[in-house]
Amino acid sequence: MAAQRKVRSDKYTELVNAGLGRDLAKRLGLPQPAVLRRWTPGAPLVQGPILVVGHSDGADAVATALLSWGQDVRRHATPKEKVGAVVLVLDELAHPDQLSGPLLEVGAALRDLNRNGRVVSISRQPGAGDAPETAAARNAVDGIMRSLAKELRAGATANGVLLGGGTAVNAPSALSALRFFLSARSAFVDGQFLTASSDGSPATPDWDRPLDARVAVVTGAARGIGAAIARTLARDGAKVIAVDVPAAGDRLAAVANEIHGTALQLDITATEAGARILDHAAQRHGRLDIVVHNAGITRDRLLANMDPARWDSVIAVNIGAQLRMNQAFLASSHFADHPRIISVSSTSGIAGNRGQTNYAASKAGVIGMVRSTAPLLAERGGTVNAVAPGFIETAMTAKIPFATREVARRLNSLQQGGQPEDVAEAIAYFASEASAGVTANILRVCGQNLVGQ
Ligand code: NAD
Repeated sequence: MAAQRKVRSDKYTELVNAGLGRDLAKRLGLPQPAVLRRWTPGAPLVQGPILVVGHSDGADAVATALLSWGQDVRRHATPKEKVGAVVLVLDELAHPDQLSGPLLEVGAALRDLNRNGRVVSISRQPGAGDAPETAAARNAVDGIMRSLAKELRAGATANGVLLGGGTAVNAPSALSALRFFLSARSAFVDGQFLTASSDGSPATPDWDRPLDARVAVVTGAARGIGAAIARTLARDGAKVIAVDVPAAGDRLAAVANEIHGTALQLDITATEAGARILDHAAQRHGRLDIVVHNAGITRDRLLANMDPARWDSVIAVNIGAQLRMNQAFLASSHFADHPRIISVSSTSGIAGNRGQTNYAASKAGVIGMVRSTAPLLAERGGTVNAVAPGFIETAMTAKIPFATREVARRLNSLQQGGQPEDVAEAIAYFASEASAGVTANILRVCGQNLVGQ
C-alpha cells in the first residue's frame, strides 16, 4: 500500500515549534501554529479520555456509542485530568436560557484539553417549523462553535454535527460525522458543521478500511490534491481509476502504479468523458461506486480585463464537465449501488476572491449542482457532497508571491496552510459507507479561514 507522504510543512511553522524560535515567537507575540496531528494507521481516535457533556437521553446514547468504539468516556470532568475531546450533546435545546449550564461546563473543561484536542457539538438543525425560542437556541450553537474554534489553540478544533429532520442523535450517520470530527482525519477542518439528514446505514462500518472493494474515479489525479485523494482512497481500500489529461500521462501513470490502480488519460471536457470513465470502470471492475470531481483550473483576471478564453475554459473544466459527466453516470446501471459523488469546490466559491469571478462562478456553481443533485442520488441510496478547500500547500499555491502567500496561509484559526491530504481525508469520509445519510453538505477544509463563513 502507498506509503504515508511526507507532510509539506512551511518553514515558519517548523521554526516556531522548536528551541530558540519557539521562545522568540512567544516573547514577540508572533503566531505559533501548532504541528497538527494527522491520521496514521493504528493511532488512537483521540489522545485521552472523551468528556460527554449534556444531560439528555441523547447524551447517554452518545456516551454508550463512544464506549462501543473502545473509547475512555467521562460523564463528568475529573479535576486536573487531561481530556482528548469534549462532546457537547444539545439535542433537546428549546430555549437560549438552556445554553449556559452545558456551555460553562465545557468552558471549565477546556483548560484540561490536550494538544490537538477536539470539541464537537451535536444539536438539531434549526427549521422553519421551530418555535422562535427553539430556533434561536438551535441557531445559537452555530455562533458558539464558530467562536470557540477561534479561541482554541495548540491544534485543537471545534466543529458540530447537525441533526436534520428526525435523525436520531445516535444514528449511524450522526455518529460517523462525530467520529470524523474527533479523528485526526479532520486536522484542518475547524469551525464547521456536517448535517446528517437521515439515519443512514445500520451496517457496522470497517473503520480501518472503510472503502474496501469500492471502485472510485478521481479526476485531476496526476498531482496536487487529486494525487493525495487517489492515495487516500486506495489506502482506505478502494480500487482507484486515476484520470488526467494526456500531457500529464507520466505523472498519472506513476500515481496509478504506486496505489495499484489504473490510469485513464482523458480531458474531462470531452463530450464522451463520462462514457469513457464508465467503460473503463465496467471493463475492469464491473461497476463504479465513487466519483471524485477534483480536476480544476484557474485563469485569473479582473472582470474588467477578462477575455472569453479565460472565462469559458474555467467554466468548462470546473463545472461544465462535472454536469455532463454526472448525467452520464446517473443514466448508467453500473453506477447504482449506493453511489457517491464528491466535488471539489473552493472557499473562493463561498466568499469570492478578487480576480476570480470566473473561478468563483464555477466553484459556487459546484455548490448549486451538489444541492440539486442530492435527490437524484438519494433515489439510488447514494449521496453527493462537496469539500471547499481554503489555502492548501500545493504547487499551485507555492507560485503565489512570498508576502501574499505568507498572509494567505496564516489567515485562519490554525494559522497555517492545509495539506492536500487534509482535503483527501474529508473526501474519503464522504466516500465511505458510514456517511450514508450525510448528503448535500459543503464542508470547508480551510482551518476556519477568516473569509466567508
Ligand atoms: P493542480 O493544478 O495541482 O492539479 C489539477 C489537476 O487537474 C492537474 O493534474 C491537471 O492536469 C488536471 N486537469 C486540469 N484540467 C483537466 C482536464 N480538462 N481534464 C483532466 N484533468 C485536468 O491543482 P490542485 O491545487 O491540486 O487543485 C485541485 C482542485 O482543488 C481544483 O479543483 C482546485 O480548484 C481546488 N482547490 C485548490 C486549492 C489550493 O489551495 N490548492 C484551494 C481550493 C480549491
